[in-house]
Amino acid sequence: MKIYFITGSQYLYGEDTLIQVESDSKKIVEFINSKIDRVTVEYAGMVKTPEEAVSLVKKVNYDDECCGMMVWCHTFSPAKMWINGLKILNKPMLHLHTQFNRELPYDEIDMDFMNLNQSAHGDREFAYIVTRLGIPRVSVAGYYQDEDTISEIKKWVDVAVAIDHSKKLKVCRFGDNMRDVAVTEGDKVEAQIKLGWQVDYYGIGDIVKEINAVTAEEVDALYAEITNLYTLKTDDVDAVKEQVKYEIALKRFLSARGYTALTTNFQDLWGLKQLFGMSIQRLMVEGYGFGAEGDWKIAALGSVFKVMAKGREGVTAFMEDYTYDLVKGEELVLGAHMLEVSPAVASTKPTIEVHPLGIGDREPPARLVFDGIEGDAIAVCLVDMGTHMRLICAEIELVKQPKAMPKLPVARLMWKLKPDFKTGAKAWLQAGGAHHTVVSTALTADDMELFAKLNGLEFIHIK
Ligand code: MN
Repeated sequence: MKIYFITGSQYLYGEDTLIQVESDSKKIVEFINSKIDRVTVEYAGMVKTPEEAVSLVKKVNYDDECCGMMVWCHTFSPAKMWINGLKILNKPMLHLHTQFNRELPYDEIDMDFMNLNQSAHGDREFAYIVTRLGIPRVSVAGYYQDEDTISEIKKWVDVAVAIDHSKKLKVCRFGDNMRDVAVTEGDKVEAQIKLGWQVDYYGIGDIVKEINAVTAEEVDALYAEITNLYTLKTDDVDAVKEQVKYEIALKRFLSARGYTALTTNFQDLWGLKQLFGMSIQRLMVEGYGFGAEGDWKIAALGSVFKVMAKGREGVTAFMEDYTYDLVKGEELVLGAHMLEVSPAVASTKPTIEVHPLGIGDREPPARLVFDGIEGDAIAVCLVDMGTHMRLICAEIELVKQPKAMPKLPVARLMWKLKPDFKTGAKAWLQAGGAHHTVVSTALTADDMELFAKLNGLEFIHIK
């Protein structure tokens, strides 16, 4: 992917100045490029007339490889000429408020120097019109070679790439949402308008057909691979192979149709021997977004956030607030799911286990069991308020589980709410936060705020 870099200027100062503006812009782009590897930053040109603004923004809009636009005003750049261009911009923008020279040459500075290097002036004019037009964007201020400036640009790039993914995202729903559940529902049309998500339904029979077409040879090959990765803690090889079959079929079905996120529902299992367990766990760790009980919003968020976090340290996973340890002052949340916990958050080598499960009324499903990691994280959900979508982000601290849980046959994570249990829990409840979340140790509240802002979502930050 690429980012187009556009420089604002004007004809007032003569040809020589414009030649200098272009040459300096290319040097800045070259430097930024040497520090960023996720995208290529490409100098796209200079805006000196309204026509150039429109034509450069069109270039940004219509290049499928481009996921955003950076703008910097080297000189003054009268902003009325930007209006028609900015009005049609449909990709994320970063306004880089920097300067070609770091230091002021006190002994040498004259009017020519001041006219050439007036980002302080030109960027204010540009920012005014962007604000007046109500265009959400990121403003990064600082010398372009500074580490903090580059780091802010990188964070925006991650969000811009994630938004590009979001606009093309397809979510596959096997079955509908769980009957009677409120928070996993929502307006799919609004989600597609705001976030780009195409959310499609398939009857469970469609995946059952795919499962039945998987051959024994395919199952044996993947079974050997999986039992090498994890510790097999069951004699029920057939049950494990059943999940292996599901994994092959799910991946085949999703990749043939371009889906990177999926939902399932334990109320819709016709033709299946087991609930989806280990198969979903392994899909999640490969990058698929997942939502249980038909929760397509969290499935989509999972896929988008995994793309955002790519290349960063840390992990991103589907989670559910399940039960509490309410020891006064030491309150902990136990997060888990019936089966579907991503091995991305494992601190111990996962074991493959087969246990009965009351829910779903099927044969005992195979699943991966492990303890969770520690560290600072965020828990995020998206809820539909009827009038708008709300992104809620809580800061949490993942902790080591205080004691072993020998009878709990699912993977789990444990965490502390911030700033404390009472405040954090009350804020989440008051905000109407969901029980399904995406937990990430790679992303931060700043990323979430930016994602919300650029997508027109309400943002609530609990810290
Ligand atoms: Mn659930």
